[in-house]
Amino acid sequence: MLIISHPQVRELLPMRDCMVVVADALASLARGEALQPLRAGFVRPDAKGVMAWMPGSLAAGQPFGIKVLSVVDNPGELGVESHQGAVMIFDPANGSPLALCEAGAITAVRTAAVSALATERLARPDATTLAVLGAGTQARSHIEAMLEVRPIEGIRMWSRTPATTERVAAESSELHGVPIEVADDAASAVADADIICTTTSAREPILSSEIVEPGMHINAVGASIPAWREIDPGVLPLATLFTDRRESLANEAGEYVHAVETGLIPDGLVVPELGEVLNGDHPGRTSETEITLFRSLGLAVEDIASAQLVYERAVKQKIGTEVDIVS
Ligand code: NDP
Repeated sequence: MLIISHPQVRELLPMRDCMVVVADALASLARGEALQPLRAGFVRPDAKGVMAWMPGSLAAGQPFGIKVLSVVDNPGELGVESHQGAVMIFDPANGSPLALCEAGAITAVRTAAVSALATERLARPDATTLAVLGAGTQARSHIEAMLEVRPIEGIRMWSRTPATTERVAAESSELHGVPIEVADDAASAVADADIICTTTSAREPILSSEIVEPGMHINAVGASIPAWREIDPGVLPLATLFTDRRESLANEAGEYVHAVETGLIPDGLVVPELGEVLNGDHPGRTSETEITLFRSLGLAVEDIASAQLVYERAVKQKIGTEVDIVS
């Protein structure tokens, strides 16, 4: 089994290449070829984080596997990444383990790659302004990903700790050569933006329905636990909803569950999956003024497809540490 570290994953998994493999995985899932059970997990007894495990399989003949994660509540204070763990993939030919890849790097890239695919299909073609709420790992990778799919001319960023936001904005601006302004609050960050990415660990809404305007595209990435809401459920009836997996949406997205329970949106609404859009089974955005909302929950098939690519490249380039855990 090949062990592939965080920096090695980053080297082997550029955003654009990740977009290709996660698109294949989501399209295959929507065709019923891949397998995606719901994730499971628990809040730790000390309530300082979550342990989660996410199994899945690509289509017949391709790897299956699992992501095992520890997600801590206060990564900044601890000096660690929020998502730590591993993605393990297995060889369908003999059932043997192929690779163990560091999960934080895969999660950072594949989540933003999925949002980029959604943005490519759902944002207005003339979108040039981006608002990013949050200033952590996903905020950084979403800036990179959005720049892949639209000619972004300006970014506004807001998060709850101004000093961190200033630092991340300055670093990302220098890295990507795009101006990033730090906003005083979420409403000013979002005002007039064509694309919004919500990438915080907020448990109460930071994006309210009053600040959402016609023509916007929103990638809602945080709050993957039903009790948490990063966006106001009132945004949902204003928007055309899309998601990565309907089953995950109904079981894991707090604002969606609340919107259904309170009658803001109809129970039984069939929310299109991104894979259906990619397969041409749903048209995506249909007007300039429509508000499109992609609710990302995160799927193991995205991790496994990314780990497969990383593994194949690592073997070819002789990167990683081979460990014999059997004999
Ligand atoms: P980080 O810890 O790196 O960043 C979290 C950001 O959210 C920080 O800027 C933090 O600010 C901010 N934040 C935390 N709490 C609050 C709050 N109460 N109100 C406002 N802002 C807050 O996490 P990641 O970037 O790795 O993950 C961000 C979110 O994305 C999480 O909710 C995570 O669960 C989710 N996620 C979703 C995935 C998907 O596939 N959909 C995959 C991976 C992550 P500060 O600097 O002040 O701490």
